[in-house]
Amino acid sequence: MSDITLILLCAGNSSRFENKVKKQWLRIGKKPLWLKVTNKLSSYAKFDKTIITAHKDEINYMKKFDNNLMYVTGGSTRQESIKNALQEVTTKYVMITDIARACIPKKIIKNLIKNKNKADCIVPYIDVSDTVVYQDQTIQRDDVKLIQTPQLSKTQILKKAIKTDIDFTDDSTAIYNYGASRYFIKGDIKSQKLTYIDDLNKLKCLKPASKDIFIGIGYDIHPFEANKKMFLGGVHIKSDIGFKAHSDGDVLIHSLIDAILGAAQAGDIGEFFPDTDDKYKNIDSKVLLENIKEFIVKVGYQIINIDITIIAQYPKVNSYKKEIQILLAKLLDINPYQINIKATTAEKLGFIGRKEGVAVQTVASLKFYNHKKGQK
Ligand code: ZN
Repeated sequence: MSDITLILLCAGNSSRFENKVKKQWLRIGKKPLWLKVTNKLSSYAKFDKTIITAHKDEINYMKKFDNNLMYVTGGSTRQESIKNALQEVTTKYVMITDIARACIPKKIIKNLIKNKNKADCIVPYIDVSDTVVYQDQTIQRDDVKLIQTPQLSKTQILKKAIKTDIDFTDDSTAIYNYGASRYFIKGDIKSQKLTYIDDLNKLKCLKPASKDIFIGIGYDIHPFEANKKMFLGGVHIKSDIGFKAHSDGDVLIHSLIDAILGAAQAGDIGEFFPDTDDKYKNIDSKVLLENIKEFIVKVGYQIINIDITIIAQYPKVNSYKKEIQILLAKLLDINPYQINIKATTAEKLGFIGRKEGVAVQTVASLKFYNHKKGQK
């Protein structure tokens, strides 16, 4: 049994990253960065358990990648996330790292563990090779240390050290401020943090994203309901009946959402917007689509194309196809030519033929965002 718990901080919102994709979701080959780093560190040493702090909207999706890890909702700051995670730690020691340190060498982990009894917090650092000026004074660079993570702390001491309003940028500073001891070990330039978009090309251990293409299929049906506005693909259709539904009943958007989620292996519309939730009563489905678009971009996908088939005896939708195509492209932030819309009748067969409702079938294809410069 190990007396160390591993915590990976993945709840950050990548504010300095200037990219719509969150860095933790960049694909390294086929795996998201957070999983790649987690798997790598777990292979370097034995841990009692591994805890991932994550944004609450991403935990369900993360579980689809690995259900054996423990996921804890992150806080608004790094320190809040650590506090939440520490509640689940039962071991004497805890190793905490930022997911942005994607290329930590094995020897750092081994060294942290080897030295775990030397102080209350073991912390890797690197020397500064450039001249350092502090408040207009050139200072002895030998006295300057650049602090890295992961750091290995005694759990009980760290818990006490961060029980304060001061927001520390690393555990060792909190521990030092608390009056406990820290011990420095040599870090490694390879443990550099992925902070800015340009760092992506510097980090040698990061492989390009896989060029796989992902296909998803979506299908939805809604019956008609009198005295309701009818929407298809976000466009108001002139009609004195609408669709019966918990939401505005936009059967086209619902089918589209399921196709996109299917391609991203992210479940279905009901997992994101349960129809038991009053929040979504009569909601404009365009809002749901925009939410889903933001989500899939954040977690590393780009849309290649979308193909939609509307199966309707009523209403006649041909004259609306162009308008729907342009609106959907705008909502999804893609070009109209990436969307194709077809309309067909049911040849008067079945419930659609009897004009009782409409069905829509959609296929969507996605690819991973490319993070390596020059890669097409
Ligand atoms: Zn629906």
